[in-house]
Amino acid sequence: MPGWNLKPKFLQRSQSVPDTTPAPPMETDGRKLPPPRQSLPSVAPEAAAAIAKLRSRREQLAFDLERAESAHDPDNPWAERIVLLDDTLATIEHDLADLATLQPLPLLPLPPTPITDVAAQRDDPIAVTFRIGPEGFRYEEETDWDQRGGPVVRGELVRRSGDAARLVPATFSDDRREDLARHLVASTDAFAVDLRNRALEASSFPAAPTLADFAEPCPVCGNWREWGGACATCAQRAFLRQQLNSEAIRIAKERDAEEEDRHKWAERLPVARRRMLDLDQQIAALENPKP
Ligand SMILES: [Zn+2]
Repeated sequence: MPGWNLKPKFLQRSQSVPDTTPAPPMETDGRKLPPPRQSLPSVAPEAAAAIAKLRSRREQLAFDLERAESAHDPDNPWAERIVLLDDTLATIEHDLADLATLQPLPLLPLPPTPITDVAAQRDDPIAVTFRIGPEGFRYEEETDWDQRGGPVVRGELVRRSGDAARLVPATFSDDRREDLARHLVASTDAFAVDLRNRALEASSFPAAPTLADFAEPCPVCGNWREWGGACATCAQRAFLRQQLNSEAIRIAKERDAEEEDRHKWAERLPVARRRMLDLDQQIAALENPKP
């Protein structure tokens, strides 16, 4: 999501300051910084090595100190990221509420037109046929040549004739016709697969099926259930709900982690200040040894 990887302000600041140029002495939080190196009196090589080591530690500590200080600032980078995460969470909750309050469409059952002439052919190619009113259907299984001689994998059942879209009753309103046509195609395909499976298992065909069984209105969403009882719309909504819930959990965790990280850095401030003072004293002592 945009903006999540905003570079914290303290990083931008520390990178814009060249750290190789010795800075003039300045007051910071009431603490006097050590004088620049070029004005140092000459020190013994061992002391110079120790000073370099301490200065390097000081550089790292300055970075940590700045970060710990920024954790106490109301406009801290953690808060900026938390605002973005909260926005995303609010959007997800809004989407979930929209899903929960969807009203079912008016229930539109289909006439109980009998499905007739149901037959199956178990020879190659495996085929199933049936008739719904004026529309005759034939499905054939495509032979999967790659699987010949190997494990049995059923080939795809392909519709050779019949158009379920023509079964949409003329009385249906225009705004539902397209959806119903699409549904009937899927439901007819599901019926054909059921017939094929029954034929292969040598079990009996469904007793007296009708067109109404291909499109039973779903009381939850108002669309139609497929042959076999599954509602594609409800399944799709359940999947979407699950995705939104997982995303909400992930974002909430990320938000908690940001808050935890800010808290951790805020707590480090007194220790970081003490260590900085201590380092400055050590450096000063080495640079200005008492005669
Ligand atoms: Zn449904």
